[in-house]
Amino acid sequence: NPFDTTKIRQDFPILKREVRPGVKLVYLDSAATSQKPIQVIDAIDSFYKLTNANIHRGIHVLAEEATELYESARQKIANFIGAQSSRQVIYTRNTTESINLVASSWGRKNLVAGDVVILTEMEHHSNLVPWQILQEDIGIRLEFIPVSDDGQLDIEKYHQLLDLKPKMVAFMHVSNVLGTINPAKEIVKAAKSVGAVTLIDGAQSVPHIPVKINEIGADFLAFSGHKMCGPTGIGILYGREELLEAMPPYMGGGDMIKRVYLRSFKSNELPYKFEAGTPAIAEAIGLGVAVDYLERIGMQNISHYEREIIEYATDRLVEVSGVKLLGPLNKERGAVASFDLFNVHPHDVSQVLDMDGIAVRAGHHCAMPLHDRFQLTATTRASFYIYNTIEEVDLLVDSLHKVKKLFG
Ligand code: PLP
Repeated sequence: NPFDTTKIRQDFPILKREVRPGVKLVYLDSAATSQKPIQVIDAIDSFYKLTNANIHRGIHVLAEEATELYESARQKIANFIGAQSSRQVIYTRNTTESINLVASSWGRKNLVAGDVVILTEMEHHSNLVPWQILQEDIGIRLEFIPVSDDGQLDIEKYHQLLDLKPKMVAFMHVSNVLGTINPAKEIVKAAKSVGAVTLIDGAQSVPHIPVKINEIGADFLAFSGHKMCGPTGIGILYGREELLEAMPPYMGGGDMIKRVYLRSFKSNELPYKFEAGTPAIAEAIGLGVAVDYLERIGMQNISHYEREIIEYATDRLVEVSGVKLLGPLNKERGAVASFDLFNVHPHDVSQVLDMDGIAVRAGHHCAMPLHDRFQLTATTRASFYIYNTIEEVDLLVDSLHKVKKLFG
């Protein structure tokens, strides 16, 4: 068995802790942020103890070693997502910054009033608000692929929207609320046939399923390190080289320039053009180690294992009377289960679960319009990753029965 959860759990120090005396942590909030394996923690620790220096600047041993670690992490990440070149891999802070970079730099250069941008009704706020800002500033027109009652995109309606000749189609790969895995390749192909540029929010796909950008063919891919066993403060924007070359810098300052005059500057080459200022060096190196870690387990193995867990979890959750589970049932889906428990506020649900050490998320999960779509203000979300077990699903269900007893 390539997938040994017991062994994997030993790599995550935090999973050994008790949240209260005698109460073990059951961490079911990995869609918000994943836990970190000791390999990543050690890499950051050892960077600061042995190598710490600024990159690309000094000609001394530490600076050279730091630069080498930082750049080799970039190459690992490029290989991980199937990018042709590490020049296409830009370090950002997170998915949110990656999408803002595209909206701001590509958007302001390429969009004019009346241009159509297609999004979906299930987007995270980070793939809605940056485009709404352009709607306000430039007067672009936003259109949305609707979501069906079982949490899937209405692809027929999408094809009709393409008649509007959109300039951009930006969509999430895997929903952080519904678990829906959107047909990225098909969406991109159709967008391309009308000449639209495409952006994929991979925040919930890159950590969980094999994502090869050369196979999907999208122009941009955004994701966050902290949801894939890496540190916070580091994210990635992948972009097609011709597009990145033609885009103006997002932020100005050190490192993103080739030459500066008093009244003008020449931009640096890719990817540095988009990396102004001292970056998150230790975090980038940590993300490289996280990628090594995930690859050692194998993304295919990870996605198979998560499918087992989420199938079991959805089966058990729908058995609990009063639970209304969002998202597709009896279909391939990502490892998140958001639900409404009749009459009980999600904050109360999670508070009771917390008594049993179970960490879940309560709220709108940064997808208010999606919750509006289902006439809900909030849901309780359990999300799973490589270190979760079937036993933890059982603990969740047992605890939900307690909630029902408590709240009648
Ligand atoms: N997109 C999706 C689908 C997400 O689940 C998240 C997670 O919070 C984000 C974007 C934003 O990620 P970050 O907060 O790391 O920028």
